[in-house]
Amino acid sequence: MTQDDLKAALEAVLGPKGVISDASSMEPYLTEERGRYWGTAALVARPASTEEVAEVVRICAERDVPIVPQGGNTGLVGGAVPDGGVVLSLGRMKTIRALDPVNQTITVDAGCILADIQTAADEAGFLFPLSLAAEGSCQIGGNLATNAGGVQVLRYGNARDLVLGIEAVMADGRIWNGLRGLRKDNTGYDLKHLIMGSEGTLGIITGAVLKMFPKPRVRETAFCGLPGLDAVIGLFTRVRDSAGDALTAFEYLSAHAMAFTTQHIPDNRDPFDSRHPCYVLMELTSPRAGDDLRSAIETVLEGAFEDGVVSDAVIAENESQRQALWNLRESVPEAQKHEGGSIKHDIAVPVSLVAEFITEASAVVEKELPGVRICDFGHIGDGNIHFNLSQPLDADRATFLGEWERINHIVHDIVAAKGGSFSAEHGVGKMKVSDVIHYKSVVEVDMMRTIKRALDPKNILNPGKVIDLN
Ligand SMILES: Cc1cc2nc3c(=O)[nH]c(=O)nc-3n(C[C@H](O)[C@H](O)[C@H](O)COP(=O)(O)OP(=O)(O)OC[C@H]3O[C@@H](n4cnc5c(N)ncnc54)[C@H](O)[C@@H]3O)c2cc1C
Repeated sequence: MTQDDLKAALEAVLGPKGVISDASSMEPYLTEERGRYWGTAALVARPASTEEVAEVVRICAERDVPIVPQGGNTGLVGGAVPDGGVVLSLGRMKTIRALDPVNQTITVDAGCILADIQTAADEAGFLFPLSLAAEGSCQIGGNLATNAGGVQVLRYGNARDLVLGIEAVMADGRIWNGLRGLRKDNTGYDLKHLIMGSEGTLGIITGAVLKMFPKPRVRETAFCGLPGLDAVIGLFTRVRDSAGDALTAFEYLSAHAMAFTTQHIPDNRDPFDSRHPCYVLMELTSPRAGDDLRSAIETVLEGAFEDGVVSDAVIAENESQRQALWNLRESVPEAQKHEGGSIKHDIAVPVSLVAEFITEASAVVEKELPGVRICDFGHIGDGNIHFNLSQPLDADRATFLGEWERINHIVHDIVAAKGGSFSAEHGVGKMKVSDVIHYKSVVEVDMMRTIKRALDPKNILNPGKVIDLN
């Protein structure tokens, strides 16, 4: 098989618009958001329908050519970066196929941009709650393939919790139509949950039936300064116990995260006169127009002030103030880029152990990397912390980043000892394949290998990602 033969076979199915093979046009498909990985590929295939995806897979399977599915390429673990073979980009599959207001579902092509699905649901009077900072460019297929989390998991769950059915192309090119819009279906193995979260290693998602929810009609957003981590968890339990389901987001910023986001992002302003060790952004929402969430949030904050759990707080008075508070949180990753090299961790531990984890891991990394600036932040209400480490002010970037794997192991050992996860929401991709082998049990790794070998016997779907077969 030559590259010309492959190109000709794919062009015969996709037309010239459906195949990219010149080096400069391929470039954006070969690297990723953080510029940590650069890949190679024979070409990029851009099918426009499920049938075309199936044809591409059949052509590649016949020739033993690996396929790397790619959505918006916003993933943070190198999962969509190819090591040869064909990049299969879903970007031309953007149709909202159906919207059923009675069933409260929306059926979409995998290449739909997440923000476009939110808009379509909104225009129909509903909410599609999956929400993350990359929503303007990530695709629903990528969200489901990585089981994305984001800022509303507390109330609505992870991406996989928002799905009733999927359609996928399997490794032999057969189409599995599992687009069932059922809220109850106990008819054997739940195959959609096998494919979701498998990061393109078990099947290529081409469509999905997603759940919609009633739109929030009232919303209150508060930003708080707190004296320490125990207070953060204390505030979380107070607001969760009093607001119940209305608690939609509970996000945390450390002192460094707050300093970076206010220093480097032009319109971000610290709402307080003095600095605090910790910050929380919390949001309550309700679909019931009469719910008095303002009183609810004020009552929680008053009690928290009296007990010294909260030191200062502001409540957004309008949508632009709310957006300004959210920008403080959402621009932390961007702000951190201005502070040089950063060693990242996307971990989860039980909420009851978050404060203990941050305290213990901080002490250890400060000893290992004197002068390191811990810029931890994240979805603390889910027990998910982005425990990111910015280089010391005078450090050499490359030398600091050379410590990435050593420090990851130290931190992930602490996570493992607390029954936690070394990848809470970003997935495994290329970056954490060795962690899967190291931290999961032999039984779990065996089951993962058995499933991969059964569904992709030629190992052509995103080989080398998620599970090492050797
Ligand atoms: C600024 C920023 C903020 C982020 N915030 C969050 C966050 O809060 N929560 C979170 O979970 N993630 C977050 N991410 C990570 C990323 O946005 C998510 O992982 C997202 O779900 C990836 O979607 P994508 O379309 O870009 O997928 P890609 O990056 O293109 O692919 C990701 C993986 O899925 C596979 N894949 C893609 N499409 C398909 C398909 N149709 N079928 C099968 N496999 C497929 C790829 O092969 C790859 O392994 C953030 C990223 C950025 C840049």
